[in-house]
Amino acid sequence: MGELRRDPVVGRWVIVDTDHAGENNGFEKEDHTPKQEAKCQFCYGRENQTPPEIEAVRPKDSKPNSPGWSVRVVPNKFPALRIEGELNKRGVGIFDMSNGVGAHEIVIETPDHRKVMADFTHEELFEVIKKFKSRCVSLSHDKRLKYVLIFKNFGESAGASMEHGHSQIIALPMVPKYVLEELEGAEHYFEYRGRCVFCDMINQEYQDQERIVTENKDFISFCPFAPRFSFESWIIPKEHSAHLEDISDDKLYNLAVILKEMLYRLKVTLSDPSYNFFLHLAPLHYEHNESYHWHIEIIPKLTQIAGFEWGTGFYIVSTPPDVAAKHLREVHVTKHG
Ligand SMILES: [Zn+2]
Ligand SMILES: [Zn+2]
Ligand SMILES: [Zn+2]
Repeated sequence: MGELRRDPVVGRWVIVDTDHAGENNGFEKEDHTPKQEAKCQFCYGRENQTPPEIEAVRPKDSKPNSPGWSVRVVPNKFPALRIEGELNKRGVGIFDMSNGVGAHEIVIETPDHRKVMADFTHEELFEVIKKFKSRCVSLSHDKRLKYVLIFKNFGESAGASMEHGHSQIIALPMVPKYVLEELEGAEHYFEYRGRCVFCDMINQEYQDQERIVTENKDFISFCPFAPRFSFESWIIPKEHSAHLEDISDDKLYNLAVILKEMLYRLKVTLSDPSYNFFLHLAPLHYEHNESYHWHIEIIPKLTQIAGFEWGTGFYIVSTPPDVAAKHLREVHVTKHG
C-alpha cells in the first residue's frame, strides 16, 4: 500500500508508492549530445548575436560583447516580460490584468557549448552563482519589481530551447502563487510554533538520517519527506536566511560545491536526466525574514504530469525519498571541482 504524506510548509498531499521502492524503470531518457553548436548564439565569438550584455565575468582589458568572457548575462531576445514601461494595473470586467512589465535575463554559464553544469569546476559554478546574487541586488533597486525567480532548464524535455549551458532570471511585478503558498505556510507555522519550518525540517532530517544526501559547512541537501517527483531534492543553507543577498561569498562558494555535487550525483544515478532547478528566495523587500528560509529545489524530469495531478494538485511519487537519497549517496564523488 502507498502512503499519503503532507508537505509541512504548504500542506500539499502526495502519494508515495512504498511497494515498488527502487524500481527505477520507466523513467524517460533523453539524449543530450550537442546538435546546435554550428548556429548557437551563446557560443564564444558570437557575442554580437545576443542583445548587449548586462554583466559579464571577463578580464579588465576586454571589451563588453567581445570574446574573453567566462560568464555573460544578457537580456532574453524573446522576453516573456519587458523592463520598459508602467505596470498599469486594471480590471476588465471580473478580470485583473496589467502590462507585462518585468525582466527576463539569460545567464550564459560558460563559453564552451559542450560543457554541462554537472561537470563545471567549483570555480566555474561559483562565478555563475555570484551573478545570480549580483542580479538579485541590482533588480531589487527597481521598485516596480517584487520577485526574482532564478531557474535552469536542462534538456529539451525539461523545457530548454537552447542546449548551450544557461540559466534564466525572471523578475516579476508580483509574488507568484507557489511562493506565496510557501510564505503563508511558513508564517503560519512561525506564529503557531515560534520557529522556522525550514529550520525544523533540517533538524528533522538530521534526526531521521534517511533522506540526507550530502552536506558541507554551510549547506545541506536532502530528498524531502513529501516530494512531488521521484528524486526531487533540495539544497538549503544550514543557517537561517531569507535572501540570497545575505550570503557571503565564502558561503556562496560552498553553494557551488554542493550544487555541482548534487547535479553530478543525479547525472550518474539517473543516466544524465533532463532537469529543472529553481531558487525559492523571499520576495524583494520582504519583511517576515524570521519565518522564510530560501532554498533550491532540483527536479529531474523523469515522468509526465497526468490527469490525477492536474485534477487534484496531489502528486504520485514512485520512488520514496529515502530510497532516492540512498541511490544518490552511493555515487562516488571526489572532493575536487
Ligand atoms: Zn553554444
Ligand atoms: Zn530557517
Ligand atoms: Zn520552495
